[in-house]
Amino acid sequence: MNKLVAGNWKMHGVAADLQQVRAIAEASRRFPSVDVALCVPATLIERAARAVPGFAIGAQDVHFADKGAYTGCVCTAMLIDAGASLAIVGHSERRDAQRESDADVKAKADAALGAGLAVILCVGENLAVREAGNAVRTVSDQLDASLPHGPAVASGVPDRLAVAYEPIWAIGTGKVASCEDIAEMHAAVRDRLAAAYGDAAQRVRILYGGSVKPSNAPEIFGVADVDGALVGGASLKAEDFVPIVAAAAAVEAAPPIA
Ligand code: PEP
Repeated sequence: MNKLVAGNWKMHGVAADLQQVRAIAEASRRFPSVDVALCVPATLIERAARAVPGFAIGAQDVHFADKGAYTGCVCTAMLIDAGASLAIVGHSERRDAQRESDADVKAKADAALGAGLAVILCVGENLAVREAGNAVRTVSDQLDASLPHGPAVASGVPDRLAVAYEPIWAIGTGKVASCEDIAEMHAAVRDRLAAAYGDAAQRVRILYGGSVKPSNAPEIFGVADVDGALVGGASLKAEDFVPIVAAAAAVEAAPPIA
């Protein structure tokens, strides 16, 4: 299974930044064993997709409804029409600022997968939960309440679904979870995936996210059950992001360290 390295540009990016999209797509061709994607702002999806045909451009959110009176929202058909092939759902910044619940996240994942998009479903604990020793329990509960189930699973969902474990206290802070904590959490995520999808759980990629950068990527990619990364700040510039893709490619042949 190829590793997946996806960038989340958050609320960054205008036309001038398409040169970074082009540079990242061009450089990524050197690493065919890694799947690379950029989730850009909605306003940039169409231009980015046109700029780099064949390279995966994604959205950072999607509405669960297929159309309707939802001012300011974007549905799956609009994303596909603009050229997106994947969507992030449940990012902690949206769970927090937009008060998105696990049920909302599940509805979004169902809608996106049902429409044929790939999905990166984010989960993660805050610092208080981690310090109270409840991180694994909290993330497991998030997954049980937000993973898509039912008929969608039979139609190849595991291959188009990735789960991103993103400890909230590590996002944009420069703090990174220890390899032991990442290994423990990714094993727990795999366990919940197995409960939902049986053997097909092995085909769901589990990404780590939280201050991944060129200097820590090799160590993180060496941890068992780390199938890639969701990268925020370090995905904005090719000079930062491409070395992370290279680190994912380099670890392919090496055995996991934890
Ligand atoms: C993210 O936004 O998903 C993220 C992990 O951000 P950063 O890499 O900047 O911590």
